[in-house]
Amino acid sequence: MASIGNKMLSAFYEDSRFYDNNLRVITFVRWPYDADTACSVEKMAEAGFVSLATESAPTAARCFFCCKELDSWHPDDDPRKEDTSHSLSCAFNNLTKDFSQLQVQEFLLLELERARFHIKRVERMLLKRFDEDAESGRRQMSRFIR
Ligand SMILES: [Zn+2]
Repeated sequence: MASIGNKMLSAFYEDSRFYDNNLRVITFVRWPYDADTACSVEKMAEAGFVSLATESAPTAARCFFCCKELDSWHPDDDPRKEDTSHSLSCAFNNLTKDFSQLQVQEFLLLELERARFHIKRVERMLLKRFDEDAESGRRQMSRFIR
């Protein structure tokens, strides 16, 4: 359990660097869509996305704030609309003023929201692991009951 907690904590701190838009932009090394498309690198980064591209999923991306992962982007997809349609409560995409204009208290409230998303992400991982372990135990026990 401690290792998941440590991983969660380090992922939370590592992701905080992505408040810097330039660091989000440079994650999109092999993004397939041009600057004049609705989901250009710049627009993806402005909406909080970082690239998770792999060879089999070249358009995989995750919102650094709400942790929502989306794949199969099309050139006419609007990154902000996509993020809010899949994660209604993403406070980063619901900001009513520029991030650089936030006061300390507003930033701390934002960080609290980001922590909430990370905790939910870990909760989903733990529940999935629990279900897998329970299923494995069920299968092992069924060998003895015939
Ligand atoms: Zn988001």
